[in-house]
Formats: sequence, C-alpha cells, structure tokens
Amino acid sequence: MKLSKNFSKKVFNDKVMKKYLPKETYLSLKKSIEFSSPLEPEIASIVASAMKNWAIENGATHYTHWFQPMTGRSAGKHDGFIDLTNGEVEINFSEKCLIKGEPDASSFPNGGLRNTFEARGYTIWDCTSPAFIKDNTLYIPTAFCSYNGEALDTKTPLLRSMEVLSTQAIKVLKFFGVSNVINVTPTVGAEQEYFLIDRKNYENRLDLKICGRTLFGANPVKGQEMDDYYCSRIKIKVADYMKKLDEELWSFGICSKTKHNEVAPSQHEMAPVFESCNVAADHNQLTMEIMRVIAKKNNLACLLHEKPFLMVNGSGKHNNWSLCTNTGINLLDVGKTKKENVRFLVFLCAVIRGVSLYSGLLRMTAASAGNDCRLGGNEAPPAIMSIFLGETITKVLSNISIEKEIFSEDFKNMLITKAKTLPNLLKDDSDRNRTSPFAFTGNKFEFRMLGSSASISMCTTVINLIVAESLEYFVKIFEEESSFENAVVKIISSTVKEHNNIIFNGNNYSKEWEEEAKKRNLCIIKDTVTAAEEYVKEKNISLFEHFNVLTSGECLARYKILLNNYCETILIEAHTMLEMLGKEILPAILEYTKELCDTLNGIEKLKLKNKTIVKDVEFLNFSIENINRNKNELIKSLEEIKNFNKKLDKAKFSRDVILKIMKKLRKSVDDVELMVPKKFLKMPSITDLLHKV
Ligand code: ADP
Ligand code: MG
Repeated sequence: MKLSKNFSKKVFNDKVMKKYLPKETYLSLKKSIEFSSPLEPEIASIVASAMKNWAIENGATHYTHWFQPMTGRSAGKHDGFIDLTNGEVEINFSEKCLIKGEPDASSFPNGGLRNTFEARGYTIWDCTSPAFIKDNTLYIPTAFCSYNGEALDTKTPLLRSMEVLSTQAIKVLKFFGVSNVINVTPTVGAEQEYFLIDRKNYENRLDLKICGRTLFGANPVKGQEMDDYYCSRIKIKVADYMKKLDEELWSFGICSKTKHNEVAPSQHEMAPVFESCNVAADHNQLTMEIMRVIAKKNNLACLLHEKPFLMVNGSGKHNNWSLCTNTGINLLDVGKTKKENVRFLVFLCAVIRGVSLYSGLLRMTAASAGNDCRLGGNEAPPAIMSIFLGETITKVLSNISIEKEIFSEDFKNMLITKAKTLPNLLKDDSDRNRTSPFAFTGNKFEFRMLGSSASISMCTTVINLIVAESLEYFVKIFEEESSFENAVVKIISSTVKEHNNIIFNGNNYSKEWEEEAKKRNLCIIKDTVTAAEEYVKEKNISLFEHFNVLTSGECLARYKILLNNYCETILIEAHTMLEMLGKEILPAILEYTKELCDTLNGIEKLKLKNKTIVKDVEFLNFSIENINRNKNELIKSLEEIKNFNKKLDKAKFSRDVILKIMKKLRKSVDDVELMVPKKFLKMPSITDLLHKV
C-alpha cells in the first residue's frame, strides 16, 4: 500500500483530473489525450482553472511551459501565478496561459530558421503528456515552434510521426479484419546507463564539470578486466542513491523498474516500464535531470556522457520500441491464432524494410560528438547498422518466402503448435545476442546505438516514420493483390528478398563482421559529420516531407545544428584541455621537476650521485617539451578553424585535425601523470574517480 501511495503524486494524473474536473470535461480531455484529438477551447479554460487550483493547493507558486529545444536539454521560463491588477494581488492563469506561451526564443538553436525580426517562438501545450509539479512550479509539457510554425524542438516531429504511424497501422489492420482500433501508439521503454562518482572528485576535474568526460587521465589501476561489476552487489551509498532516485521518479509517475550495476566500475543502469513514446521521451528527459540533482544532493555526481572514461565501457541508452493498439494489442507480439501471427510477421517486416531502407537515417539519430567516442568501441554496438531477428523468426520468414505459402507445415509447427511456448522461445532466442544495434527481443525491437545523454525523441521519430512508410507500401500491396494470402506472401517474400542483407544474427563485435558488412554494402557511418549528411539526402527529405513530419527547411536546420553542436563540443573540449594544462597540469609537472632538481643539487653537494633521479628529471623535461609542442599545435589549430565559414568545413576540421591533436596531447600528459605526486598534481586520477564511491 505505502509503496504505491506516492506514485505519481506530483502529476496532474487521471485520478487528479477525475477529482478536479467536471465529468464531461474530464471525458473530453481524456479523449483528446487518448486519440491525440484537438481540445475544445471552453474545455481548456476549465482544465486551466482546475490545474491551477490543484497546483496551488500542492504548493506551486509558478508555472512553466516546459519544452525540449535542440540543445539536448529541456527548457522553460517560470511565470508566477500571482499578478497585480489595479494594485490588487490576484491569481491569474487563464486557458491562454495553459495553451500557448511566447518565450523570447531567439537564443535557442534554430539552424537559421528564424530571422531575428521574427525571433518569437511559441510553446503549445501537449495535453498527451501530463503536467506535473517540480520545485514549486507547475510544469506544462509543450511543443516549441517558430513564428511560422517550424519545429524548433524534438517533441514536435515526434508527435507528428506518431499520428502518421497510427494512420498507416490502422489501414493495415483493416486488412486483417480488425476494425475496432482507433489509435495505434508507439511504445518506448528507455533503459538509461550512467556513472556515479564522488562529488568532490568531480568538482576537482574541470573536464568532467565542463565537458562531462575526462580529457586526461592515465589508465586506472583496475578497470573492468575481471568482469566483476555487472549485476554485482550494489554499494551502500549507491543503493541509497538508487532508492532516493526511485522514490523521486515514482512521485513523477515514472515507473522506474529495474536497477543494477553495469560492466564498468561505478557504472549503473535504470530501466523504466514502457509507455507511449511521447510520454517516455518527456520522462526520460526528466529522469536525466532528476538523476543529476539527486546525485548532487547526496555528494555524488551523475555522469551521463557517452564515454566519460576512455578505458572502460561507455554509457548508452537502449530504446525499446513496439506498437500498441488502443485495444491493448502489442503488434510485435505473437498471437494465439494463425491470423494474429501473420499480422505479427507483417508488422515485423514493416520494421525490417524500414530499417533496411533508411539505415543511414536511423544511424544519424544516434550521432553526437559524445557518442562518436563510444560507438564502435568494444562495449557498444559497432557503427554498422544491422538487425538481429534470432534463428526462429529468420527461419519462419525465409520459409514463407521460399514456399510462397503462409500456413506451411513449418510455419504451423513454429507458430501454431508451439503457440504457448513461442513467446518464451523468441525471448530466449533474442537474449543470446547483446551485440546487435537493432535487435528483435521477443515482443519489441531494441535500438542500442543511442548515447546515454541523448533525447530519445529523434530516433523514435525516425523509427515511427520508416515503419509508417513500409506500412503505407504494404497497404498498396494489400489493395493490388488478388487475395489476402497472396498479399501477405508478397510482403514477406519481397522483404526477405530485398532486405535480407541487413539481417545478421551473429556477433556484431567480431572483426569478420566488419568485412562481411562491407561486402553486403551495409550502412557503416563512423562519425557525426558523415551521419549529419543523412538530414540533407534527398531520399530522407522526401520521407519527412511526404508525411509532413519535417520540411526540407527544417531538415536543413537540423543538419546545421547537428554539425554546429558537434564542432562546438570539440572546441569546448580543446579549450578545457588548454585551461587544465596551463593552470594545473604543467605547473604541477614543473614544480615536481624543480623539487627533483633541488634534491639532486642537495645530493651532489654531498658529493653523491643519483642516476634514477637524473633519469626522472630527463623524462619529466622531455614530457614538458612534448606536451608544450602538442599544446602549441592545438592552439594553432584553434586559430586556424576561425578561417572556415561553412559549418561542414568547421566540423570536418574538428574531426580530422583538432580531435587528432587532442588525442596526441592527451597521451603526452597521460604518459607522465603517474610519475607526479598528488602533492603537486591535485587533480583526482581516473582510479580515484572510478573507485571512490
Ligand atoms: P531486457 O532488455 O534486459 O531483456 P526487458 O525485456 O524486461 O529487459 O525490458 C527492457 C525494457 O523494454 C524495459 O524498459 C521495458 O519496459 C521495455 N519494454 C518491454 N515491453 C515493451 C514494449 N511492448 N514496448 C516498448 N518497450 C517495452
Ligand atoms: Mg536491454
């Protein structure tokens, strides 16, 4: 009882709505939420009043239109409920305040979409994601658009893609005789990885504070080589953090479900129960914020960067995706009847075809400077797009495509006689492969490329869209073929024939796979600069435009923002390195060198010799020169980049020149770090960072 009592207590949830709204208003709002239909203005006025009353009763003094600009973080301006009218204090929160806000939005990334003379942005209430109270403020989830209606956030395209997918899925379902479905919702469960380190250590590392990752640091004395962290006993301090995190997440209606230690020391994971992808996106954003805040309150720091430490695993975010009808059917789950199982296969094919045709676009949604440090490493899926289906499903699909018969013996054996055990069979099958970037895991797909700090919105938008496009294509086949059976056989066999290449059930980490993938001509994109191109490829723009999810202008803007974010991230990292070098690292090495020289002088005064100290001084001296050489090279390159005007040129220069010098510079420092005593080099080492909590 007590456990569930606080769940969702800070949320304007169903129970609260029922209590605070007249029945008719409640039903009308509920309908809008469930079917994403527009809300009548008079309803909004009643909802606004109820929401305000509830919020104030629960301690809120302000409200904010909460939105997700393309910064990767959320934003909002806080307005007080209180107002002055003719010198009298009154509470003011009309339906206008609820529905629409006009933040001065000129300072958010817009990729050139807004001229300054029309710099106003609009936030528009998204009633499908519930409002909540945080820090005495009523948070109203909103979409963020420009004066001309162009999307300036991650939510707008997501909402658009959900509608598109629902429409196409309903059309396909009609061919299966399912006509009572009014809405199909993509569902997402976002598993979140993170590091937890000591706060004081964090505060003493400028690189972690500014960039989220260590830019210097020799190998830790112990990493993950013993395989002894994954799912190991959770330390008391971490357990305490996780408990507080759970309680806080639950109070916001986020059903945090699973927690465990991850592969690297001080690395952990939280998995919530899945929900509608839009709510899941908002909740994941909120989760990341809460993770950081609770860590700070507990003298810890939560790192959400994709690769905070070079020599141990980085952190990802697994996007578990499926489709659910308003009648409660998971369309990626096997059913009880033949027809249900054929339906399952058709929806499965829609995903396979979509990912195969638009693998570059999907890969792009995971691209960032941070994730470039992680993808392709040993822990993360490589930067090659492929799909894991498991042997069972792969066999069923290929048999159908060979026999041209949907209810073949084999299929019957597989799907009918084993109907009860099949879901387990599929799950077992899928559990064997953890290396695939896009894996079928029994009743959902899991996209594993996403970085830990990323919003799930863009990748979910793209998955929704590419599946919608396949479903639209399948609808045509259903319409053109002479029978239902023929259509299904055509759908499955053409998917197998044309998209077999992307299916790979083996080990994605193996060297052979890279070779094989090249032969198969699969999408291999290693960095963000290359990935960004996907935004401006004609084929992808057509897809976005066809479904009115993004215009070509909006695609171009996002392309520029992605390149800009990439480039600026690297520049900030480079400047952080220089600051650390100048203010901490080089002075420390020099001071230690001086101390050794003084010691040596003392020894020589006694007419003694010490070859080891001489050797140490030699090495320190060599290192200082080496570091300075690399430092100067970096400074020069930071001047050089100013000569480029185009975002693409800047980004390429960052990737090809600046990053490489940074790597060299790091090595020259790491090589000498362990020689310098803590007395001089006060910055915590990687060992300190990974093993202090
Ligand atoms: P694992 O991936 O470790 O095997 P689970 O299968 O239990 O773990 O689930 C992982 C994540 O997938 C959880 O966040 C869960 O809520 C989510 N998930 C489960 N079913 C669905 C679904 N139908 N749609 C979207 N996400 C789902
Ligand atoms: Mg998983």
